[in-house]
Amino acid sequence: MNARNKTAADSSTLAARDLSVVWHPCTQMKDHESLPMIAIRSGAGAWLEDFSGRRYLDAVSSWWVNLFGHANPRINAALQEQLSKLEHVIFAGFTHEPAVRLSEQLIALAPPGLSRCFFADNGSAAVEVALKMSFHYWQNRGWPKKTRFVTLANSYHGETLGALAVGNVELYKRLYKPLLMEVFTAPSPDCYNRESGESWEAYSLRQFEHMERLLAERSAEVAAVIVEPLVQCAGGMRMYHPVYLTRLREACTRYGVHLIADEIAVGFGRTGTLFACEHAGISPDFLCLSKGLTGGYLPLSVVLTTDDTYAAFYDEYTNLKAFLHSHSYTGNPLACAAALATLDIFSTDDTIQRNRPKAAYLARCAKRLESHPHVTEVRQCGMIVAVEFAKNKRTREAYPWQERRGQRIYLSSLAQGVLLRPIGDVVYFMPPYIVDESEMDLMVQAAEAGIEKATCD
Ligand SMILES: *Cc1c(COP(=O)(O)O)cnc(C)c1O
Repeated sequence: MNARNKTAADSSTLAARDLSVVWHPCTQMKDHESLPMIAIRSGAGAWLEDFSGRRYLDAVSSWWVNLFGHANPRINAALQEQLSKLEHVIFAGFTHEPAVRLSEQLIALAPPGLSRCFFADNGSAAVEVALKMSFHYWQNRGWPKKTRFVTLANSYHGETLGALAVGNVELYKRLYKPLLMEVFTAPSPDCYNRESGESWEAYSLRQFEHMERLLAERSAEVAAVIVEPLVQCAGGMRMYHPVYLTRLREACTRYGVHLIADEIAVGFGRTGTLFACEHAGISPDFLCLSKGLTGGYLPLSVVLTTDDTYAAFYDEYTNLKAFLHSHSYTGNPLACAAALATLDIFSTDDTIQRNRPKAAYLARCAKRLESHPHVTEVRQCGMIVAVEFAKNKRTREAYPWQERRGQRIYLSSLAQGVLLRPIGDVVYFMPPYIVDESEMDLMVQAAEAGIEKATCD
């Protein structure tokens, strides 16, 4: 057997072994009777390579986590250095330099007023922390009736039961409803549904009226409003105008309700600024970060909050006001070291500035898909560009979901060496920031060919 055949055999054996023992996330495993399971051997830059040497351009940053490429030499070096010192230590009663430095740096970079970092180990856990902290804050401060949360239609905040409850993507949530707390849901400011000729700003403002009314009626029961600033990512990369956040911040303050900004997906430069809240010039009471935090290397999340929140828990032990929440791997030193290396790249490479022409180039390339007879919208927010298609371009009537047209794009783009993972009938690009123009061309070509294939019958 020559080397190439041997590696091809490794790949198919690994895939077969996988399918006999592994249960994959967000997957109907029966699909793999026909869908290939792709075993990845290595990654370098924006590319993944399988065992037969086939390469795939990672246009979705491996589920939105990777910022500076796979096997990034600078993050690798930082991890190796940390590995030789300390892999992990209990984070109650003990601390370590990577966590302290990371907290200092995050506080310096985050919107003003956020002065405390509470660590967890994944995005959903960060959302749970923010929800519990907000509720607990009001209990500690003598507002026992503030027990409810307000969320936006079409929002996504993770999969654990609290995070699922404040999310609003029916596909993930419907079945579990008997297990979930009830929330108040305000209509989304998502601008896909604006009238023709209406600006994003006018539409988001109009949608804010519902939120204002809800808060006016219910604020006595509400602990916090939770939102994904500017882009509802899992909800199909639906986007809205920052004015909504400005108004929401103002209303939350006026009604005595916390604002939780879930920047797990949009943080770390995705929207064109380091944090999406900067577009609106606001500071939330809780800022949830994960995904890009470690550059896509290791699971880590953090909730930043204010002096006011911290003070509400700071008391004699016997007054039982402490936040007794923990995760085993909280503040893991390796993950913190990867996060520090990631922040270092942002500052030394001036990533936010450098991304501007890239984002403009990507949007310009994708713009040509607007003329496709089934494409209803091409939208952009910073380094996120989405292309939505429908059965009927004029009425925007959707294809029946059972037809799974997005899946055809996934398969056709893989055949072209590009990893795209449409959400329903929305194809999007959320690449690592190291992509170059030819790679962006390739992504858009693959999407174009895929949409053509997916809409031709
Ligand atoms: C991915 C995501 C989460 C959940 O993070 P996990 O690490 O997958 O648990 C929460 N909120 C938003 C906005 C996300 O995109």
